[in-house]
Amino acid sequence: MRPRASGLSDVGVIRSHNEDCFDIDPGNQVFVVADGMGGHSHGEIASRIAIDSIREFVARTADEDATLPFEMDPRLGRQSNRLKSAIRVAHDKVLKAIRQDASLHGMGTTVVGLLVDGDSAAIAHVGDSRCYRLRDGKLELLTQDHTWVNEQVVAGFLSEEQARVHPLKNVVTRALGGDSDVDVDVREWKIAPGDLFLLCSDGLTTMLNDHEILERLDAGARLEDLCGRLVRDANSRGGYDNVSVVLVRIENDAGGDADDEDETRALPRAR
Ligand code: CA
Repeated sequence: MRPRASGLSDVGVIRSHNEDCFDIDPGNQVFVVADGMGGHSHGEIASRIAIDSIREFVARTADEDATLPFEMDPRLGRQSNRLKSAIRVAHDKVLKAIRQDASLHGMGTTVVGLLVDGDSAAIAHVGDSRCYRLRDGKLELLTQDHTWVNEQVVAGFLSEEQARVHPLKNVVTRALGGDSDVDVDVREWKIAPGDLFLLCSDGLTTMLNDHEILERLDAGARLEDLCGRLVRDANSRGGYDNVSVVLVRIENDAGGDADDEDETRALPRAR
């Protein structure tokens, strides 16, 4: 099995800057979306630091014998520990940038990452960027938002519908660049040919609910077309926020056609 991926990021309809960032690294089979925050477009800096740092860390630790800078979590496999470490290192880099330049104080970023290895995938996240999996026509959310409203939903104080429209729906409880230490959620999943993973920023999920996302996904379509459809429809709903999507389809090694190559695009549209 091997993953094939495509991504797209757009500034949206209202905002002047795109503070989202994404990365597709087919060689190391790692895929990331980050959603930066902080005034004066500093969110752009935070999400870029995170993306670059994760890419560099994953490349540097490709060797099975490479040591990881944090104690291994014995409940997790090596790839999950590796992705988790990559995100913790990225967090340290965002904090370091803030320490070196006081004007960056308050910047931060969410992150969601997918690392494919053999027949499994590690999925890790901090904040409200999400990972979904489409399998057998069913869309499943694999991450739990680190937001105040989601905590209220889990505790039974808010319904999911109330959370969607709540005035505090944008308050994230975890981010890279926040507290001195960061708590990264990571899980390992078995993958199967045909699985389609969606990594996205909240610019998608505040505009389209899960059912509407499912309606727009089609396991057999070109990934590039699906990314374009999701971004276009988020914008047509209002596009209040930057929107970023990365789609990763698990294919048999022999599968795929030449005109659907891995592609990296991050083109904020001129308006
Ligand atoms: Ca956002």
